[in-house]
Amino acid sequence: MRPKRLIIIGGVAAGASCATRTRRLDEQREILVFERGPYVSFASCGLPYHLSGVIAEEDDLLLVGPEDFKDRYNVDVHTGHEVLEIDREGKRVRVRDLSTDACRWEGYDDLVITTGAKAFMPPIPGLDSPGVFQLRTVPQARAIRNWIDKQQARTAVVIGAGFIGLEAAENLVKRGLSVQVVEAQDQVLPPLDSSIAERVGQHLEEKGVGLHLGVSVEAIESEEGGALTVCLQDGSRLVADLVLAAIGVRPRSELAGEAGLELAPGGAVVVDDQMRTNDPHIFAAGDVVQTACAITGRPTYLPLAGPANRQGRLVGDALLGRGHRFRGVQGTVICGLFDLTVAATGLSRRTLAAQSEIPWSTLWIHPKDHVGYYPGAHPITLQVTYDTRDGRVLGAQAVGEAGVARRIDVLAMAIQLGGTLSDLEQAELCYAPQFGAAKDAVNMVGMVGANQFRGELPSRPWSEAIGDEGPMIDVREPAEFEAGHVQGALNLPLSQLRGRLNELPTARPLLVYCQSGKRSYDAVRFLNQVGIEAQSVLGGLMSRPRGEFWGRSSDTEF
Ligand code: FAD
Repeated sequence: MRPKRLIIIGGVAAGASCATRTRRLDEQREILVFERGPYVSFASCGLPYHLSGVIAEEDDLLLVGPEDFKDRYNVDVHTGHEVLEIDREGKRVRVRDLSTDACRWEGYDDLVITTGAKAFMPPIPGLDSPGVFQLRTVPQARAIRNWIDKQQARTAVVIGAGFIGLEAAENLVKRGLSVQVVEAQDQVLPPLDSSIAERVGQHLEEKGVGLHLGVSVEAIESEEGGALTVCLQDGSRLVADLVLAAIGVRPRSELAGEAGLELAPGGAVVVDDQMRTNDPHIFAAGDVVQTACAITGRPTYLPLAGPANRQGRLVGDALLGRGHRFRGVQGTVICGLFDLTVAATGLSRRTLAAQSEIPWSTLWIHPKDHVGYYPGAHPITLQVTYDTRDGRVLGAQAVGEAGVARRIDVLAMAIQLGGTLSDLEQAELCYAPQFGAAKDAVNMVGMVGANQFRGELPSRPWSEAIGDEGPMIDVREPAEFEAGHVQGALNLPLSQLRGRLNELPTARPLLVYCQSGKRSYDAVRFLNQVGIEAQSVLGGLMSRPRGEFWGRSSDTEF
């Protein structure tokens, strides 16, 4: 009997995972991969680091070549081959060999579409000028490096302050260029909440990256000799030797759409939880598909390497009749920028604010990555959202110099398993002084959150505290107060509170703040027990947004 034939279109994250998983489960099947680029299974996530030379050799980005696929997995990989058309009726695809331009039909029993995503290129005049680049493939990274060398480039403008844009900006700085970043949204890393993203923006500026936020690019003018001028909506003109457009991506779903497969409004291929399209013999995985949010069940698009790899692997399972299902995505991301790490998982405050079905609240804490008495401890700003009905953790975002990835990974797993604040309180995590604390940051989230959830910590976020006209009490030490405080606040340090109770204005409920939220928590617990109504301002001054102080301007510039 003729062996079944599997054709995979696209041979990077999802395609390569699908090919190897299928082979591991089925030695008989014929497996062909068509990849129109020159490489398969390359490390796109490493491309920004090749710009600086942190990843020195191009070869280090090429994980497995066609020969390895053949020798190790008996998979026939055809690079430089573009699939032009899918004939669902005839169960075949039309393929063009890009080296000869010759076209041929190849039949399949099952087909997997892993064509990924393409860079979004809005109609900005000049975006196709020489010296304007995208960063999605090895040849594109090579072209940027060559341009820098040839032009002896000293300045660059990066359009887009998403993860790829900022990683590229950091690596161009490390390569010795002076870099400006332009972002149409009013913050860097738009998927993150502003309280976290602000810290990242501040750090980039400290490292010399120029930020132009809340302004879009209108045109790019090029001069002979290669110099470029990026013209912004606000009239500014940024001169650069190199422009990198990292404006976002769109699913590369034209093939699927032309074959009549169902597409979501944004163009992504619609699949079920086994990555099957509306044609039972065609699957799709990776950046080309729409998937579901694991928390809300809503359709979502998340072009990331982890989901792409897992989905590709799952197609192999589905082909072999295994019952595994894709659980959906929760948006777990991380980015290292100079000395900072920023990471997130689950639902942001912005996403929660835009929906109505889940009642939610937020907490902020600022624990150290490991105990303060062991050298080298750094604070982490940790924001967690939770469902106010049952304390289920919904999302987490963190920024800091160390220990961020570990906390977000633990919280990501808690979210995937439906964990609550009480579960975090009880979590048993590894501890020695150089790694964490006996009450780890994750336990602290649980403890603070559970206090909040059980009503043991009357509290308010800054956004609400600022609108309140009630008396504000600063419970930090006098030296800290003098260095900067909220206008009109009364300084009564926690250490003196018990002896100076009579100085408190008690006609209205008090709003108590400190640096991180810890001392105000202690103060509020005490005040409430002696019958004084008081609320703690969540996360303390470390969580206050920068800029305008919502009507309560600070006496001293913070
Ligand atoms: P791709 O990797 O895009 O592969 C699709 C392949 O299909 C392409 O090689 C394309 O040439 C081929 N193809 C398309 N059409 C055809 C056709 N008609 N015929 C034949 N072949 C075709 N994700 C993270 O999670 N973390 C990171 O740190 C991270 N960093 C990134 C940095 C950069 C610079 C980039 C570009 C991406 C980064 N990503 C990161 C995203 C991650 O790389 C993608 O989510 C992942 O590669 C998607 O895998 P995929 O297989 O779906 O698509």
